[in-house]
Amino acid sequence: MIKDNLKEVLASLKPGVELVAVSKYHPIEAAQEAYDAGQRVFGESREQELRVKYESLPKDIKWHFIGHLQTNKVKYIAPYISMIEAVDSLKLLQEINKQAQKCGRTIDVLLELHLAQEETKSGMTPAECENLLHELAQRNASAETRLANVRIRGIMMMASNTDDEQQIRKEFLQANDIFNKVKDKFFATDDSFNIRSYGMSHDYLLAQECGSNHVRVGSKIFAN
Ligand SMILES: *Cc1c(COP(=O)(O)O)cnc(C)c1O
Repeated sequence: MIKDNLKEVLASLKPGVELVAVSKYHPIEAAQEAYDAGQRVFGESREQELRVKYESLPKDIKWHFIGHLQTNKVKYIAPYISMIEAVDSLKLLQEINKQAQKCGRTIDVLLELHLAQEETKSGMTPAECENLLHELAQRNASAETRLANVRIRGIMMMASNTDDEQQIRKEFLQANDIFNKVKDKFFATDDSFNIRSYGMSHDYLLAQECGSNHVRVGSKIFAN
């Protein structure tokens, strides 16, 4: 039962760790069941699937876009998205800012890091992330170029898909390290830069043990 799975996951989380229920590939009814059990934050990774769910489900749901987002899709989700978790380029960030401005909103985003061993995983290397933040700082220094309609809330990453717990732990700790460096260097006085989004069904317990405060759990809640 989805309700029982959800309760089990929530009971296993430390205080202050936020759960994003990843409903991607699961039907509207499944998300509704989690909603009825009290869940309000959901994650989706495809714009069209998200749109269908957004239109069908209660409007007090906070939707997080957790997948790779194409620049040309930003305009569709900008009116209602609560957080875009996987920003991996300045170009995407600028487009989010532009569309958020059109909607008269500020959109929360996370910067996606690539620390995993697999080449297929998206996200920025630590160096690319730092470059983006430098460029952003330059733009934000002037009122005309400032990206005033996006708010960077933290970092997101996916660990290697492996059974090697030591490897996964190493990547989570590396993510913490980068979070702390970025916080000190670019967000020292910004209390809203406070999200470390790592951990999925198979590794969220380890992730929270290693410092994650935002886990994205799908199959453990929705798969039978
Ligand atoms: C699918 C997905 C998840 C959830 O994965 P599960 O293994 O089903 O918990 C988390 N994060 C991202 C980015 C995903 O694409």
